[in-house]
Amino acid sequence: MPRVSDIPSRLCLGPGPSPVPPRVLAALAHPTVGHLDPAFLALMDEIRDGLRRVFATTNPMTLAMSGTGSAGMETVIVNLVEPGDRVLVGVNGVFGGRLAEVARRAGAAVTTVDAPWGRALDRDQLADAIARHAPHVVAVVHAETSTGVGNPVDGLAELIHAHDGLFILDCVTSLAGMAVEIDAWGVDAAYSGTQKCLSCPPGLSPVTLSPRAVARLDRRRLKVPSWYLDLTLLRSYWGQERAYHHTAPINMLYALHEALAIVLEEGLAARFARHRAAHERLAAAVADLGLPFVSQDGHRLPMLNAIAAPAGADEAALRRRLLDEHGIEIGGGLGDFKGKAWRIGLMGHGATSAAVDAVTGALRVLLC
Ligand SMILES: *Cc1c(COP(=O)(O)O)cnc(C)c1O
Repeated sequence: MPRVSDIPSRLCLGPGPSPVPPRVLAALAHPTVGHLDPAFLALMDEIRDGLRRVFATTNPMTLAMSGTGSAGMETVIVNLVEPGDRVLVGVNGVFGGRLAEVARRAGAAVTTVDAPWGRALDRDQLADAIARHAPHVVAVVHAETSTGVGNPVDGLAELIHAHDGLFILDCVTSLAGMAVEIDAWGVDAAYSGTQKCLSCPPGLSPVTLSPRAVARLDRRRLKVPSWYLDLTLLRSYWGQERAYHHTAPINMLYALHEALAIVLEEGLAARFARHRAAHERLAAAVADLGLPFVSQDGHRLPMLNAIAAPAGADEAALRRRLLDEHGIEIGGGLGDFKGKAWRIGLMGHGATSAAVDAVTGALRVLLC
């Protein structure tokens, strides 16, 4: 039987999880209390406040779902979509595709606006599709982790709201690594994950709903089909009633509280600048190694760098050597990029010059 203590430490520079700072690991190891303990409930209030600050929102309905980013995705879809609803999804990678699939399973009539892998969604195409279909819901992935591309979000809310639609934004990879402005952008529902730029282990999914989205939830004809993800039940636990729904993952919430404290101590603007600087340092180094980006210039994400894998090499074997000989994890390509691209994540605690130098130095050794 392997033991946990036998697992080597790694520098996690893939598409998530990101490196977790010692303060967060220490919080995780704090003794467990009851999920209705007054001290713990006070901590939940602070988590909610912290999440509002990182989402840049005043939304009363802001909480952390038990589950990873995909649980957040499923939460916003099953709560805000009813069978037969028209849902428009932007698809230019794995996560846009997953959103479309989750919406179809919720019984929606799904239309997609597509862009090739490595390119951003086209704002005009989204605008045309919104005008043509008057969707009940429009869902876009802010930072498409599978391709390293950021999608346009500015100005979409006005078009969506003109038809009384709701705007859903996947902020799993963008939150706490680049600007996310839920209120200013008119986003009605957003979700994230803890293991990307928040630098917390995977296990929780921050979610926020605008008052307009809550009104849609309150007007549903049918009950939310998932009991576990039903926000009409969960709001009684996160709200003043503190009604038992399911046992909150106490220690994960300790960790999220500490991760949010670290984010807010650094300050969002400084944190975004740090991600940007790490990206620029990496971009210069990979250009030097002759590995071009496969993501569109002008739309590249700071925290997820998708570059071409070395031509003619066994890229999976090289990534394995990077892990075994240098203790560094990077991601391979997915979908159209499978076997062709590498994804270097510079997320949260991993967005540093030291991390960039470690991975590019190791790649230089392996490639030269
Ligand atoms: C990672 C990710 C998800 C899914 O999150 P999990 O924590 O793996 O469930 C969804 N959307 C995007 C953009 C992601 O990067």
